[in-house]
Amino acid sequence: MSDKKNYGFTTTILHNDRRKGIEHGSLHKPVHTSVTFAYNDARQLASVFQGKEPGFRYGRQGNPTISALEDKITRMEDGVGTICFATGMGAIGAVFQALLREGDHVVSSSFLFGNTNSLWQTVAGQGVAVDFVDATDVANIEAALTPATRVVFVETIANPRTQVADLARIGKLCEERGILYVVDNTMTTPYLFRPKAVGAGLVVNSLTKSIGGHGNALGGSLTDTGAYDWNKYPNIAASYQRAAPAQWGLAQLRAKALRDFGASLGPEAAHHIAVGAETLALRMERTCANALALARMLEADERVAAVYYPGLASHPQHGISTELFKSYGSLFSFELKEGIDCFDYLNRMTIAVSASNLGDTRTLVIPVAHTIFFEMGAERRASMGIAESLIRVSVGIEDTADLLADFKGAL
Ligand SMILES: *Cc1c(COP(=O)(O)O)cnc(C)c1O
Repeated sequence: MSDKKNYGFTTTILHNDRRKGIEHGSLHKPVHTSVTFAYNDARQLASVFQGKEPGFRYGRQGNPTISALEDKITRMEDGVGTICFATGMGAIGAVFQALLREGDHVVSSSFLFGNTNSLWQTVAGQGVAVDFVDATDVANIEAALTPATRVVFVETIANPRTQVADLARIGKLCEERGILYVVDNTMTTPYLFRPKAVGAGLVVNSLTKSIGGHGNALGGSLTDTGAYDWNKYPNIAASYQRAAPAQWGLAQLRAKALRDFGASLGPEAAHHIAVGAETLALRMERTCANALALARMLEADERVAAVYYPGLASHPQHGISTELFKSYGSLFSFELKEGIDCFDYLNRMTIAVSASNLGDTRTLVIPVAHTIFFEMGAERRASMGIAESLIRVSVGIEDTADLLADFKGAL
């Protein structure tokens, strides 16, 4: 397949492995399980180790199956390179492990996936200060910046309350100040939105969610979009400054996070994720349409207290979501009016499954305050806008009429 033609999103993913030649005619990238890679010439082994020529050496730092997936994600995000990790949290943790030092400061959105929130609390106990601010307004980010701020971290559409960060203005601010802008694109996926378009330097994807898409493999990735000038980043060690500056960030991340901490993606998981990614666009079209239909129906029902979905005109960031995203995502959340117990409601459903994953082909529902946000306590939940009756819905690809009947029938 030609490198030059501007193929569409799905065509590009489906045929990407062929750009580098297919192995033995195998149209699916083979699952390479070998932990080590041998060379007939010991000098070649040395030169691979010294980075003088490309090649694989030991499975923790990558193998051909994982490398093919990394290349696919790079193309999806229109980036310069990608590193895969065992999980999405492995990818976010890598930012801390490889790029932050004692005394550094991070400004993070306060509307975050629960485990990311917990990760930043951990980091705060290890010498890196983190401030949480309402990222729906760039003014809050700007007010929190200090001379020690190295990273600004936001999610596109926050899980579970669906607040949308002031993505473009934050990007502009970070560019002006030379700060690394890290955007977690899990909820939008590169099909709905490319954070590179708003100046993000690093993009996080939990591959476990919509990209893998079938709830059968864990994975995460960090993509360097090429938008950040690593010359401005003070924490790059001299040994990773040998190649062109565009390579510095990923070189340090691959060595200091992937190699040293070892949250490496397994080749079988990489295979599942790569197969799932082939239908990302098709699944997103369907789940976004289903999510909009469900959100509209629930909003019109007087037994429902609130519905949070960027596709609704009532959503505070509906305008910027329309501007930035191809569609509004497969996740929404809602609160029932007092008198309807959220557990009883979920138990009456016959299609939607009570479970904690998202981005699956099946519709999954979860009472947020009692499960994924339980550990953080009521006070922090309240500050994040999480009501005790909040139900998060990860919408699947079921037939729309069946889902509408299930959510209405259970009321
Ligand atoms: C799930 C999720 C993660 C973490 O991904 P895992 O693969 O479960 O580790 C990070 N960010 C967001 C927005 C998520 O939804």
